[in-house]
Amino acid sequence: METTTTENTEACAVIGRMEEQDHEQLLFCNDRTTGLKAIIAVHDTTLGPALGGTRMWPYANEFAALSDVLRLSRGMTYKSALAGLDLGGGKAVIIGDARTGKSEAMFRRFGRFVDSLNGRYITAEDVGMTTVEMVNIRKETKYVAGLPESQGGSGDPSPVTAYGVFCGIRAAARTAFGTDSLSGRKVSVQGAGNVGRYLVGHLLDAGATVYLTDIHEDKLAAIKKDRPTVNIVAPADVLALDVDIYSPCALGATVNDESLKLLKCSVIAGAANNQLAVEAVHGPALMEKGILYAPDFLINAGGIINCAWELRGYDRKAALQQTEGIYDTALNIFKTSREEHIPTYLAANRAAEARIRSVRQAGLSF
Ligand code: NAD
Repeated sequence: METTTTENTEACAVIGRMEEQDHEQLLFCNDRTTGLKAIIAVHDTTLGPALGGTRMWPYANEFAALSDVLRLSRGMTYKSALAGLDLGGGKAVIIGDARTGKSEAMFRRFGRFVDSLNGRYITAEDVGMTTVEMVNIRKETKYVAGLPESQGGSGDPSPVTAYGVFCGIRAAARTAFGTDSLSGRKVSVQGAGNVGRYLVGHLLDAGATVYLTDIHEDKLAAIKKDRPTVNIVAPADVLALDVDIYSPCALGATVNDESLKLLKCSVIAGAANNQLAVEAVHGPALMEKGILYAPDFLINAGGIINCAWELRGYDRKAALQQTEGIYDTALNIFKTSREEHIPTYLAANRAAEARIRSVRQAGLSF
């Protein structure tokens, strides 16, 4: 069958996008019966099968979905490599409204697409997904993690993520202040969600003074009820607070041109993905301002570590122990950043790339 010039151009555009950041494989999924429209991206499988969640989001168009899945899957490669996991990076996006567009059949169909990759991609929960969908996917494929505990899974990864973030904060404090004790340190936490609420508990237990904000009053009230010593602040005030540590645990891109003018902290260390609006701009800008940035994909790896343990037979204690390794990894990244005068995100990227390269060069790829 002949192809038209337009078709050729569009195909090149997609493969060209894959070439830009070295993605291995994309699977475009369409099912008229269930309305499923999805893209699965396998970025790199050098270290192992590509593990990463599925996000359901009402993308404006398929190009927005493609951009997101390419960016997110690459991020997973770096996160797992740096966490020392034998996993590669992947991600999936489903184009649709998570509140209205779900059905059992859709997720079972999606599960079959995941299965067709024969273990090169393992899915898990992400934005817009719940354990209900994971259970439906599991009906069609074994390549899924993040199942509820009642189904033999590891359950909600947020407590483990929060613990890893706490370890990263302590490592950053040691580098910035000469001690990892958080006693008396002022810490602002932006986001009282699944991770934020557990993190607040660790910080208060460690003797920190915590300033917490969220756009939802009920979430703040619930935490305040459990932990009355937490200080509640308005969302608009959190960036300009005079604190030692700012911990973004809500959305990405909160480190940007505007927030840089307001921030008074010495350390930024939180759970939110993609905190730097533009890595190459805001990474160096933080360095110039003397703010130590703990790369998000380094310190929020507790969740993926938890999933990795589910795959090999879940052991909560072992997952937490491995998550504690974030402390030493972070210290090393901060040291490299100082010695080589490079932003911390770059030091972290290079460490991840070096691990992948060495395994590939030794012919040990998955
Ligand atoms: P969540 O949705 O439970 O919590 C996010 C909270 O941020 C919500 O309570 C929301 O109301 C609040 N929020 C949104 N916009 C805000 C704003 N402008 N100001 C203040 N608060 C705002 O999510 P989560 O699971 O706690 O994850 C938090 C972040 O950490 C996300 O960026 C997520 O991608 C990342 N992360 C989470 C995990 C995990 O295990 N849950 C793992 C890795 C990374």
